[in-house]
Amino acid sequence: SKKTIGFIGLGNMGAHQASNLIKNGHKVIVYDTSSERMNLLLQKGAELASTPSEIAKRSEIIVTMLPASAHVKNVYLGQDGILSSVKPGTLLLDSSTIDPQTAREVADQAAKHQATLLDCPVSGGTGGAEAGTLTFMVGGKEKDFELAKPILSCMGKNIVHCGDVGTGQVAKVCNNLVLGISMVGVSEAMNLGVKLGMDPKKLAGIFNTSSARCWTSELYNPCPGVLENSPASRGYTGGFGSALMNKDLGLAVDSAKAIGENLYLGNVAHQFYTQMVNKGLGQKDFSAAYEFLQKTPSS
Ligand code: NAD
Repeated sequence: SKKTIGFIGLGNMGAHQASNLIKNGHKVIVYDTSSERMNLLLQKGAELASTPSEIAKRSEIIVTMLPASAHVKNVYLGQDGILSSVKPGTLLLDSSTIDPQTAREVADQAAKHQATLLDCPVSGGTGGAEAGTLTFMVGGKEKDFELAKPILSCMGKNIVHCGDVGTGQVAKVCNNLVLGISMVGVSEAMNLGVKLGMDPKKLAGIFNTSSARCWTSELYNPCPGVLENSPASRGYTGGFGSALMNKDLGLAVDSAKAIGENLYLGNVAHQFYTQMVNKGLGQKDFSAAYEFLQKTPSS
């Protein structure tokens, strides 16, 4: 049935997700700190709100898609935040990538207001967000997962119940640990191959029919011109920012430390993206790892 859904965080991902809820016939009320992003959604048929608290007053279900834990805490727990006026029975779906502890903490606070928060981080990139084919990794009670599923299905194709609250974030952090490492690997190999005289498209073609084949090489190749629709071919824009990847690897490093597990490549990859951010590439797509390597002279 058609619902009134609040949506907060209309960035590279959220704007597409909110549009897909509208396309599925839901009434969508949006909020973002950027008025430019709000106007974009107004044009797509959304209604506007001026605070997260107003969103809470007007919605049965709320989806949030924010950069990091601090923004999520602010939007839910802050002054004029969602929990300041959430209605009992509201379903809260946080699709941001944050640490599992914060997800559990905000869910506990929500429960005090008789609202239910599920962590629902996604994979699939901006392409998947636009096409409505995201994978959702969901943490929460089974019965709440069943309530969330029809809504998440408007934005994604694979909706997976991972376990209790927080386990969606565990799955996501581990996925991005692989992704962050594999992007550095493919970038390093593409850069080496090109510098040694190989045509980049040929080299990528070999990878994709050989054992180097992976998502990063096949669907998100970091070398400009290899794929027509990749962030690399549009100046590393409109994708997944290096600063966000750096944040996600930080989540993996911190989670590992907290339980005394070792990460090797994870630590190196984290340092790699930190350097990219320090060199001013934080807002560029994380596949700018290739550009970074290409332009960094060897020492
Ligand atoms: P983004 O930076 O493009 O968008 C974030 C949006 O949140 C911006 O529009 C910003 O104005 C808004 N915002 C920030 N603080 C706010 C506040 N207090 N109140 C309201 N709005 C606020 O980020 P994104 O690429 O859309 O990613 C969002 C989340 O999804 C991140 O956690 C990221 O790690 C994760 N993610 C991104 C991708 C991707 O490919 N971009 C893929 C999977 C997961």
